[in-house]
Amino acid sequence: MATTGEAQPAKHQEVGHKSLLQSDALYQYILETSVYPREPQPMKELREVTAKHPWNLMTTSADEGQFLNLLLKLINAKNTMEIGVYTGYSLLSTALALPEDGKILALDINRENYEIGLPIIEKAGVAHKIDFREGPALPLLDEMVNDVKLHGSFDFIFVDADKDNYLNYHKRLIDLIKIGGVIGYDNTLWNGSLVAPPDAPLRKYVRYYRDFVLELNKALAVDPRVEICQLPVGDGITLCRRIS
Ligand code: SAM
Ligand code: CA
Repeated sequence: MATTGEAQPAKHQEVGHKSLLQSDALYQYILETSVYPREPQPMKELREVTAKHPWNLMTTSADEGQFLNLLLKLINAKNTMEIGVYTGYSLLSTALALPEDGKILALDINRENYEIGLPIIEKAGVAHKIDFREGPALPLLDEMVNDVKLHGSFDFIFVDADKDNYLNYHKRLIDLIKIGGVIGYDNTLWNGSLVAPPDAPLRKYVRYYRDFVLELNKALAVDPRVEICQLPVGDGITLCRRIS
């Protein structure tokens, strides 16, 4: 791993590399063979617009976008939620996967970045599926949990926001997701930093959030209410299927 300090190709030294694969060539192969040729035009456009934004490290990678799109179709998702929108790449991949009357409750503290992607989402003809709410997710989730009618009402929830709140989100989302529904927690391999030695040179934000991601992974691994699968797609995504 980059974080062990071993000699590695330059790209893997970067925090925020878009894949945990240890071969850039293999990752590039996946993108060029299976992802880019099938990437819907609006997603390509949004990816290119986002690449020019200073915080582009936050965007969902194209291979993960493809994964989410297929997953949503496989589970026939209709009512979904996304926490952490940024410019909307994962949101658009979700919106394109849902049926015409599908819904996404999209939460983010920053509307400005959402508005970068919005014209592309509108042009793609899927904006009517999105209910964007600006503000911190936690208070809104608390309100929702207080409304028992919303319990078990979501088919899929993608969590890609403040990692120090993931466990707080989980406590609430477990009531809102239906039995058999799926919650996806993103970045659960946290740039590979989870297995880095204590003295590894990590960026400040990577070091800060690492302990929260470690705690989350431990908690999900023993949570009897969900079946889980942690996939090394993108920066790691843990799928949790609610079973009770
Ligand atoms: N899924 C997005 C994509 O595909 O581009 C990337 C999301 S980005 C990694 C994380 C987002 O979480 C940021 O846009 C940030 O504004 C948002 N965020 C941070 N703290 C939040 C909070 N407490 N509630 C809601 N959104 C939050
Ligand atoms: Ca992410």
